Amino acid sequence: MHPTSMGPRRITALAGGIGGARFLRGLIAAAPEADITVIGNTGDDIWIHGLRVCPDLDTVMYTLGGGISQERGWGREDETFTVKDELAAYGVEPTWFGLGDRDIATHLVRTQMLNAGYPLSAVTEALCTRWETGVRLLPMTDERAETHVVVDHPDGGRRAIHFQEWWVRYQASLTAHAIVLVGADDAKPAPGVVEAIEQADVVILPPSNPVVSIGTILQVPGIRESLSRTPAPVIGVSPIVGGRPVRGMADACLSAIGVDTAAGAVAAHYGARRTLIPAGGAADGILDGWLIDTADAEAASAVRALGIACEVRPLLMTDLEATTAMASAALSLASGLRQQA
Ligand code: GDP
Ligand code: CA
Repeated sequence: MHPTSMGPRRITALAGGIGGARFLRGLIAAAPEADITVIGNTGDDIWIHGLRVCPDLDTVMYTLGGGISQERGWGREDETFTVKDELAAYGVEPTWFGLGDRDIATHLVRTQMLNAGYPLSAVTEALCTRWETGVRLLPMTDERAETHVVVDHPDGGRRAIHFQEWWVRYQASLTAHAIVLVGADDAKPAPGVVEAIEQADVVILPPSNPVVSIGTILQVPGIRESLSRTPAPVIGVSPIVGGRPVRGMADACLSAIGVDTAAGAVAAHYGARRTLIPAGGAADGILDGWLIDTADAEAASAVRALGIACEVRPLLMTDLEATTAMASAALSLASGLRQQA
């Protein structure tokens, strides 16, 4: 049992890119003594110009390491795009993906290490040494598993395109008929991922995209199961505020899987874990607790009716203070549930 005055020692968080990374800054501030392990989404990863790019891992690494572009939320601060412009001058495709010059150094190191035979988890650890992120960052898997989106292509025909092409090139404007993690069947959780979930004192789902960030991580065989099984409370933070994504196009992703863009609907999609459900309950979800924004307060009772503890808090990450308050609320909801158990 943990006295309330003492925070959790081991925290494990799943994370996509911007939403996850920003929340993690607040989590570190809210629990400065904790060992935090972050399981990062690698479904967005892509080969570009012979370089292995891991957008979400890098967003977490740069954000926590103080190297992120504040304005864009991805890539490096003080970035230049000379290499990108030179490649475009050669007419080399794709031209729609933003590879900055500083960022390219990261991808060169990563690609060289991967080519030398190191697994992505070891490469990520090596890259993070420079950035001193304050967390242990693990890719969800060392295997290649990339998200693809089935669309009616402007060139004709229904086909699957890489998530990045759908998101960056088409800005999610092509209706997604399905979102598929290609390679999921052969993927295994990276070393340490399952242990981090099962040995945590609390597991947090930050306000990352429920489909193409958290949903992708959950598709790696074994990860969803370990979330259902862990003795730690699992607490999520809604990325949907006032019936909309705060930024990005999560609504286009949610409609692809038939889920409403609403804080309560996302909780129902994740589902309640068995832990808080009365014996005989049929739940096999992943949530014990869910934070929703004050704008969505009326959804709280429906979430509680699912067997998920629900609290209403301001959930806009306007600055570090507001974000830290969100993370503290998630941790205190967890400690309340631990004491109840
Ligand atoms: P991505 O990989 O860069 O798209 O980032 P994530 O998947 O980690 O996070 C994207 C999600 O973060 C979006 O669905 C947003 O709605 C959510 N988000 C961004 N800013 C905020 C915020 O201030 N508050 C909340 N609650 N969600 C946010
Ligand atoms: Ca992402």
